[in-house]
Amino acid sequence: MKEKSEVKVFRLNDYQVPYFLITHIELQVDLSQAPVQVKSRLTIKANPECKNIPQNLVLDGENMNVLSIKLDGHVLRDQEHYTLTENSLTIHHVPLDQTFYLETGAQLGINTTLFGLYKTEGIYLVKAETQGMRRFIFCKDRPDVLSTYQTTIIANENEFPVLLSNGQLIKEEKLSENIKAVTWLDKTPKPTYLFALVAGDLEMVSTPFVTKSGHELNIDFFVNKDSIHKCNFAKSVLQEAMRWDEKTYGLECELSRHMVAGVNKYASGASEPTGLNLFNTEYLFASPEVKTDADFLTIANVVSHEYFHYWTGDRVTIRDWHNLAWKEGLTTFRAAEFCEDLFGRDLMRILKGKTLDATVSRPDSYTAVRSLYTAAAYEKSAEIFRMIKTVLGDERFYHGMNHFLRENDGGAITIEDLLLSLQKTSGIHLISFLPWFTEEGIPQLGITDSYDAENQQYTLHIKQSGPTDDYSARPIPLKLGLLDENGKEIVDDRTILVDQLAQDIVFNDVTSRPIPSLLRHFSAPVKLNYCHTEADLLVLMQHDSDLFNRSEAAKKIILNLIEHYCSDKKIELSPDFFATYRALLHDETINTGVLAEIISIPAENVLIDDVKTPDLDKIHEARELIVNALAAELVSDFKTCLTRINRHTLTSPSPFESFDINEANRRRLQTVCLNYLSHVEPSKTKQLALQQFGDALGNNMSETMNALTLLCEMHVPETAMALSQFYNCWSQDVSAINYWFRIQASAQSPHIVTEVRKLMQHPAFDMSNPNKLFALMRPFLKNPLGFHAASGEGYQLIAEIILALDTIMPDHGVSFAKKLVNWEPYDAKRQQLMHDRVVFLSDKVTSVGICDVIKAALEKPYKKDSGVDPSQSAAAIPVAHQMLSWMENSNAVKHTPVKTSSLNM
Ligand SMILES: [Zn+2]
Repeated sequence: MKEKSEVKVFRLNDYQVPYFLITHIELQVDLSQAPVQVKSRLTIKANPECKNIPQNLVLDGENMNVLSIKLDGHVLRDQEHYTLTENSLTIHHVPLDQTFYLETGAQLGINTTLFGLYKTEGIYLVKAETQGMRRFIFCKDRPDVLSTYQTTIIANENEFPVLLSNGQLIKEEKLSENIKAVTWLDKTPKPTYLFALVAGDLEMVSTPFVTKSGHELNIDFFVNKDSIHKCNFAKSVLQEAMRWDEKTYGLECELSRHMVAGVNKYASGASEPTGLNLFNTEYLFASPEVKTDADFLTIANVVSHEYFHYWTGDRVTIRDWHNLAWKEGLTTFRAAEFCEDLFGRDLMRILKGKTLDATVSRPDSYTAVRSLYTAAAYEKSAEIFRMIKTVLGDERFYHGMNHFLRENDGGAITIEDLLLSLQKTSGIHLISFLPWFTEEGIPQLGITDSYDAENQQYTLHIKQSGPTDDYSARPIPLKLGLLDENGKEIVDDRTILVDQLAQDIVFNDVTSRPIPSLLRHFSAPVKLNYCHTEADLLVLMQHDSDLFNRSEAAKKIILNLIEHYCSDKKIELSPDFFATYRALLHDETINTGVLAEIISIPAENVLIDDVKTPDLDKIHEARELIVNALAAELVSDFKTCLTRINRHTLTSPSPFESFDINEANRRRLQTVCLNYLSHVEPSKTKQLALQQFGDALGNNMSETMNALTLLCEMHVPETAMALSQFYNCWSQDVSAINYWFRIQASAQSPHIVTEVRKLMQHPAFDMSNPNKLFALMRPFLKNPLGFHAASGEGYQLIAEIILALDTIMPDHGVSFAKKLVNWEPYDAKRQQLMHDRVVFLSDKVTSVGICDVIKAALEKPYKKDSGVDPSQSAAAIPVAHQMLSWMENSNAVKHTPVKTSSLNM
């Protein structure tokens, strides 16, 4: 009989070094059998670092039908020797004084979760991160148990001519007609989550690479037939990333072969198994006819991120899942800096936006490991590493990092280990940055100033505060400059470390009251409160030498206007307001991409997040008023700008054949200008958009999508025809069709919820494919008329999706659940509707991650609205059932509950 295990809470303070070490794992994976059979032989010894080791060895394992268990060659037959539960195998009475060998044989169960071994597009692969390996073999599935691997893959050579795993290919043999076996040996110890296996009829392209010190290796890409040319951009990015890491951090790739393999159906964007990075092709394939400029930038980021893990994650790994934030945060930061160097620091920083995240990067406890993969672990931690680099300076930071990685090569470490190592090499106190990782809340900097004309002295009074009364000051690097009233910089870039709750900074010899440019380049992830006048903001918007702050000033002006309108006041735009936009449109010195960002009005979903009490209708009205006024006043200036950028030939060379950032910037600014012009010259703009759409369709996805988006926003009748032309052109391309879903889910239509429900029935939609699910649902979540529809239908749809994902892909269900429980920013009616949907879900969902989110949400307060019709909750259940039956009948998902039978010898 099996025993079902309880949901466990994992606490950082409970961490214990492993009792047993698994030094080597030998695998034999037989893909020619159905179901797939996996035999493993683990070399195990008691950990010499531990005392009082129990004689029971507990291994993780689930969704497997066990065929045999042997300890040191002896078959274990009865439960005196082992205990098997739904997710573990315990071997009793193992030897503690000598190395022993545990062999298991198992058949793998049916797998819909996309973790462990699964088959898609005719390809088998193992996605191990985070806990997929336990669905493949019985193992110690934790990051601090590192093993070498020898992996033999047996398969039909016609169906699976390419068989890959980590390390080096050491043997290839024919077992019988059509059946072959290959063996890979990985001599570098790694945790289970870095294991990978790929088998399929794949095409390969191999490129030699020579490192700075002369080491030669091959970069090999493997993807489905006829798609290999789509990897050219990723291949160039990877080479650039390798060179950048050599030059910047002094880190080389020491592998003899770096492989990259991609499939379309993948649980995340990509993963970093050592020497065999696995990709979702959505983040790998890039050619201008099928990908937009924004996608090229994303792909550069993801490809470089996975490579940079080679040192920060693979060579040096995490001690436990709690410490995920160092490998993800540091690697995210490395990739961000690489892309900034490649495509422009200011532009990339502006496009990234401000990371203001109150959640903890390293929580003290968790129940589901995937719940640790948060924006806080990635983006917020990346900002923490950026602050540390600002404090240390380039040289000390890169030197310290290099030293830390070499010293800990082959180790599994914590955030504290990293901070203390950097502290030691730099001599600068850095452990004070730990609360940034471990405490919640967004620190605030409240800044006021005073000017003493007589002594020509200017003082900034800085107060630091946090979410709680007992908040203690954190280190905050504050980058700033001072401008005079004409925009001339009188104090240039400098960084001040704010590490007290109250601090004054005095500037001498300041001849007139200056305008401060604060938190330049977003030097710390904090909320800044300083009251600039509109006149000051216009000066900053036009003249600040820090382009990030120019963009911030522009956004602040718009936000002030919209908040003003939301509090029932009229919007009045000053002559200086128009003059500033006009001057910028004629400024030929400013980066085109940056200019596009400065002059574009933030989208409604962005404004909703920033306005203190968002009124969705008023935000929409105010935004329209501002755009219309700017368009009417500056019509000739937008045209002049368009002519100028279209005439200008850009000369700076691009390192990539298929992507040029200057061209991308030009396209972006052109779209922004056309968007304004559509408000004053609709028929002319429509003609331009239709022409651009016709010329670009099938040739350039950016231009196609820019034109199609404009047509959709203009609500012109030709849009339906254009959408259908788009579909006909791209119906055979799974990736391109995702744009078709995306654009329709973004439509500002009162019927958007019904439209999205219809699209979910479309044959090209597949809910079990994360790319398709997110192509449709991400824009829907951002669409104020969709997710936040006043009727509550949007919340209902999302609740149904959560319920459906609960059984097939619970990890993705968590991200939707987090959106549904985030009711705080909205009005009472919406809060009540969102809360109702959460209550509706509470007794239906079963997965640990989603249950956690819902349980925590139901403890939160919400505003009650008596006007909401309670009958909606009753009506909801049959709709949800329809949805599930649709999924079961649509072939999109075939979920069969997996049973683990009792031991079969
Ligand atoms: Zn990562």
